[in-house]
Amino acid sequence: MGGAASVMLSDLYQRELRDLRISVTDRCNFRCTYCMPFDEYVWIDRDELLSFEEITRLTSIFVQLGVSKVRLTGGEPLLRAELESLIKQLREINGLSDVCLTTNASRLVEKAVPLRSAGLTRLNISLDTLDHVKFKQMTKREDLGRVLDGIFAAKDAGFNPIKINMVVERDVNDDEIIPMVDFCRKHHFSLRFIEYMDVGNANAWTSTKIVSKKEILEKIHGVYPTQDGDREKASDPAIRYVFSDRRGDIGFIPSVTEPFCTNCTRVRLTADGKLVTCLFSNDGLDLKVLLRSGENDKSIISVITSLWRKRADRYSDERLRALNSNEGYDPKRQKKIEMITLGG
Ligand code: SAM
Repeated sequence: MGGAASVMLSDLYQRELRDLRISVTDRCNFRCTYCMPFDEYVWIDRDELLSFEEITRLTSIFVQLGVSKVRLTGGEPLLRAELESLIKQLREINGLSDVCLTTNASRLVEKAVPLRSAGLTRLNISLDTLDHVKFKQMTKREDLGRVLDGIFAAKDAGFNPIKINMVVERDVNDDEIIPMVDFCRKHHFSLRFIEYMDVGNANAWTSTKIVSKKEILEKIHGVYPTQDGDREKASDPAIRYVFSDRRGDIGFIPSVTEPFCTNCTRVRLTADGKLVTCLFSNDGLDLKVLLRSGENDKSIISVITSLWRKRADRYSDERLRALNSNEGYDPKRQKKIEMITLGG
């Protein structure tokens, strides 16, 4: 199905369109304090969700525009029924080499094998602590046992590598850095530290809560020295460091202290079909309306093309400049789409 890229699209800063993140639902069974702590929220109506056929059609359009990698996310993507059947459909698109998933792992005990059989290529799992009390404090849920079982179910199902995403928040889980490194080294998982970002409007982000890449790396170096870090591809968010003893690696996604807007090739599709060109956007372009009004692929391609050619987002670069300026940075200076809606 579909075809490999026929167009090479560049934005105003010569950034190509390469990666598509698809939120398959805005629902989540956790209430992470740094993401969506509120129980009540304006959820997307079921009728407004893109169907798997609509997602597959849009994905094949994006592949024609240069996308070769898709990440399914949310909300919690495994809350969307039969996600594996979407993965199967996506795997049939010519030119799409990677279909990845970011999940909180709470449903992986049941889903790991079906996901692998459906052709999921890679798995990123969010886990911020190994401590039950802290887990409850951070997610407002008591599911650490299920999450750990889910992680090992994924390993047993043959996923390799498994990346573990840890958001580090000062005075909340920064004392878990070394225990998490120990855990990941022992079980051969790749740990990725994510700097706490001011995504959305619902968290209580302040710059004092960030634990920077530099600080985390110094802490780890005291116990486990690493070699120099690098990105595998310039557009990768993560900078990867291999341990000097060669027993695994760690990575950093330092969006706040070392932003990587210059090489950002990502676009996001919300569960109701809005196309968003930056994680910190306050709006998106409604592709569902085009799909449901019967527009053909050619006209959808032309709409996406003209949006990308005008793209000038550099939010994290601007935030760093503001943080370093005399005026400082106000995270509420613009309303942003919540990460739970946008897809992390
Ligand atoms: N529910 C899935 C999960 O937990 O992995 C996917 C969605 S979640 C929004 C995607 C990723 O965004 C997770 O790894 C999460 O830790 C990260 N995230 C959410 N809020 C964040 C924040 N304020 N700063 C940094 N990362 C954040």
